[in-house]
Amino acid sequence: MSRSNPLKLLLLSTPVGAIGSGLGGGVELTLTNIARSLILLNHSVTVIAPEGSVLDGIPLVPIAGNLQITAQSQGRDALITLPANSVLGNAWNYARQVQHEYDVLINFAYDWLPFYLTPFFERPIAHLVSMGSLTDAMDQIIAQVAEQFPATIAVHSLAQAETFSFRDRCFNLKNGFDLSQYQFNPTSKNHLAWVGRIAPEKGLEDAVAAVDQTGIPLKIWGVIQDEAYWNHIQASYPNAPLDYCGFLSTQDLQKALGESRALLMTPHWVEAFGNVAIEALACGVPVIAYRRGGPAEIVQAGKTGWLVEPDSVAGLVEAISKLEQIDRAECRQQAEREYSLEAIGERLEIWLDRIVQSQDL
Ligand code: UDP
Repeated sequence: MSRSNPLKLLLLSTPVGAIGSGLGGGVELTLTNIARSLILLNHSVTVIAPEGSVLDGIPLVPIAGNLQITAQSQGRDALITLPANSVLGNAWNYARQVQHEYDVLINFAYDWLPFYLTPFFERPIAHLVSMGSLTDAMDQIIAQVAEQFPATIAVHSLAQAETFSFRDRCFNLKNGFDLSQYQFNPTSKNHLAWVGRIAPEKGLEDAVAAVDQTGIPLKIWGVIQDEAYWNHIQASYPNAPLDYCGFLSTQDLQKALGESRALLMTPHWVEAFGNVAIEALACGVPVIAYRRGGPAEIVQAGKTGWLVEPDSVAGLVEAISKLEQIDRAECRQQAEREYSLEAIGERLEIWLDRIVQSQDL
């Protein structure tokens, strides 16, 4: 896979956490994989990310400054805020100065500033929107960009696009993974898995309620973003068979996750995609998820997992009882077919070509 006119691309990471910290959620891995996919396609890639970021083998410009507060922790009428010495402001100031060295800038930040700045830049900015509609201010500014630069907005799922008024202008990039990093595990131990940021929108308590009923141990991996929420879950289900295993690197996570009977995905929001679904499938682990958001577009019910009535613990328990019907090899095959670096590479080419062509008009 290579292309005749390689592009010079500047990727700007999320300002809510360094790559490798877990605070940036799925965006950290998404950016890493997209960078790898673009390099496979012969494009040249430079990444701008908060200081402390780790990115093996990809040129990285670390940016100092204070992190953004995550958008999902605020209400719909939340104001736009920036801390003093903002890493977001610093990153875009740097990008403004070096923009002429690049053909396209790709924004991974779900923040107001990069959208607002788009018309002021001379180089095109591609925006990969990582979450569904959360605040009125964000909706408004993304809609303005979608109106003025229609080719530039990409999302991870149709369900995510549906949350926005400009749904028809969104390019569905889905996601892609370096599947060589995930080993297929044909057998499992008895436990179930839950992987993600431990924060209210991710709905961990439902998975805990399900294992409280079934007695099957639940291993949990991820950054504890909201300590009070985590303490509340533990206090509410004192006898649930829980095992919190910390935040692991992809290499260690895939090994441990691969031993699980299934991954439970129980988000209470419209999950834009759900990286962990593909990571599980890549290891041969079936996914049990609510029929809502990105996971509902990923899981093939009865083949690579089960889709459950949203917010139904009884539904989760029933799906757990039907896990024997799922063939783990099918799970790996689905990841290879739809979510490899090559698969997202084809989608990236279409998106970027449209942006470059609309620029030439
Ligand atoms: N993750 C990780 N180590 C862990 C637990 C999670 O690296 O121990 C990563 C996981 O690989 C995934 C991200 O955390 O990329 C969670 O992303 P997801 O898209 O599932 O949800 P988000 O956090 O973006 O809402």
